[in-house]
This record gives sequence, C-alpha cells and structure tokens, in this order.
Amino acid sequence: MDYGYSPMEDVLDSLPATRRPANPRPRVAPETMARIRLTVYRRDWFTCVTCRWSPDLPDDYDGRYALGDMFRRGDRLITRLLELDHVVPFVLGGLFTVDNLQAMCSICNGRKGATV
Ligand SMILES: [Zn+2]
Repeated sequence: MDYGYSPMEDVLDSLPATRRPANPRPRVAPETMARIRLTVYRRDWFTCVTCRWSPDLPDDYDGRYALGDMFRRGDRLITRLLELDHVVPFVLGGLFTVDNLQAMCSICNGRKGATV
C-alpha cells in the first residue's frame, strides 16, 4: 500500500487557508487601547455624544475596560456600554485614532450602524 497520497489532501488544498476570514481591522495593543479609550472618554466628558448618557465613573478608572451599566426594559435586561465610535467609518478609511473616535453608547451606536 502506498500512503504517499490521499485524496483528502486535494480536499484540504481546495479549502481556504484559514477557517475564519481574517479580521481586516488592525490589532490594537491593550495598552494603546486603554490610552485611546481614556483620552476619548475624557475629551467627551465620559458622555455619549448623541444621547448624553454617561455611566458611573470609578475613581481609579484607567481605560482598560469599557464603562457601562445594565437596566431593565420590560422583562429584558439591557447592557449599555460607552463605546468608541468611528466618526469616519472604518470601512470608509476612518482610522482608529483619537481624532476619528468619539464616545457613543452602544444603543446609539447600534442605531447609527443600522442607518449608515
Ligand atoms: Zn447614546
């Protein structure tokens, strides 16, 4: 028996190199992410630029996690985060920089995403 060739190799060769499509967004180092998040949050007064909601702000907040809260709507528990929203969308070439980011809550960001 010759095990030098398996038809399975043809199948494997025909598949994409990765199982999931590569994330087109460049990876941001956690320290950079924290610095950018803190800078944008501070500039925007830790407030959603659209609805003016702002989360509780811990005294020792360092930007390493997104601020948010949870609230009830009927029988559903909703999580709301203060996110970094691209002013010029990423898909239109907008960069992940302080100048192109603004603080926006996840609810407003979801509505914006649905209409852009
Ligand atoms: Zn909002």
